[in-house]
Amino acid sequence: MKTIRLHDKYFRPFISPSEINETVTRLARDIHDEIPGEVPVFVAILNGSFMFAADFLKKYPGDCEITFVKLASYSGTATTGSVRQLVGVNKNLEGRTVIVLEDIVDTGNTLVEIHRIFSEMNVKSLKIATLFYKPEAYKQQLNIDYIGKELPDRFIVGYGLDYDELGRNLPEVYQLKEKDMINLVLFGKPGAGKGTQAAFLKEKYNLVHISTGDVFRYNIKNETELGKLARTYIDKGELVPDEVTINMLEAEVEKNNDAEGFIFDGFPRTTAQAQALDQLLQGKGMEVSATIALEADDEVLIQRLLERGKISGRSDDQDERKIRNRFEEYNEKTAPLIDYYKGQEKFYSVNGIGSVAEITERLSGVIQGLETVKQ
Ligand code: AMP
Repeated sequence: MKTIRLHDKYFRPFISPSEINETVTRLARDIHDEIPGEVPVFVAILNGSFMFAADFLKKYPGDCEITFVKLASYSGTATTGSVRQLVGVNKNLEGRTVIVLEDIVDTGNTLVEIHRIFSEMNVKSLKIATLFYKPEAYKQQLNIDYIGKELPDRFIVGYGLDYDELGRNLPEVYQLKEKDMINLVLFGKPGAGKGTQAAFLKEKYNLVHISTGDVFRYNIKNETELGKLARTYIDKGELVPDEVTINMLEAEVEKNNDAEGFIFDGFPRTTAQAQALDQLLQGKGMEVSATIALEADDEVLIQRLLERGKISGRSDDQDERKIRNRFEEYNEKTAPLIDYYKGQEKFYSVNGIGSVAEITERLSGVIQGLETVKQ
């Protein structure tokens, strides 16, 4: 399941078809168990509940009837507050056990209308069953007898529910992406502390950390084809070709569809990679929030990397010539990205010399100032 676009908005996967199926099955059984020997009339509220009603009826383990009422309560993503009855009940329900099937109850305005209609019909009993219920949005006193699943007060689409008529056909439920995600690019020369800082920031802001260097090393360790290929470049302190790196990065992002946002560490390193990242995120309704560079002097970095190499055993950290080659690669291919992100007004720079905690503070200062975080 992927992020989708309907009209001008983006939605992300929220409730899977299997979870919906379990919920509907449970509701059907619970209702059946509570009215032994009865033949209820289910009244499904159109349009939203058509899919729920169809699945529910297939799961209902006893005799039953179905009829439909059509009401309109939504316009766009905001409740209008007023509910109109469009198509009334054309069945004699006197003395019958009536169970209303709602796809979702939020403010409860529709429920009030339904109660008003049925209170004039001398039914034996009236019960309300809803697949979804938003307790935070509910403003009425009426009891809801059967609830499939409680949801937070966020706009959803799919499984019969629409956004301006689109999305009803989706077999799963999606949630509107309200807040922009935080997607950070950590920028800087090898040894600047990107990985160390990413580990702190990912906890603090609940982000997924993707380090292309780490993914390559993982592949090298596991002797995959990708690892064998990457090794030939990494061992010389050269960049792995764009096409390989971009495909790998895309696969890593795809693996984390539910992420609140990402920290990209060691990616992008070329203009082509930066363009590919913009395109990838755009396709998902996301964008780079900020690119933050950790600045440090070359000689300090060389000492840091040589120290790190002694502990990690990384071949590219143990040889000063390879390190200098990586710096050259950076100056030639990666440094132009500073202008690329400055052009997008997304470039920030922090002093990368100091204690780990001090540098985390500096980075957090930049992140807290971003519009996406302030909202
Ligand atoms: P790092 O751990 O980020 O310093 O990356 C180690 C090595 O992996 C680099 O020197 C490159 O050979 C390779 N590598 C990592 N990320 C990229 C990238 N975005 N593009 C090309 N090569 C990369």
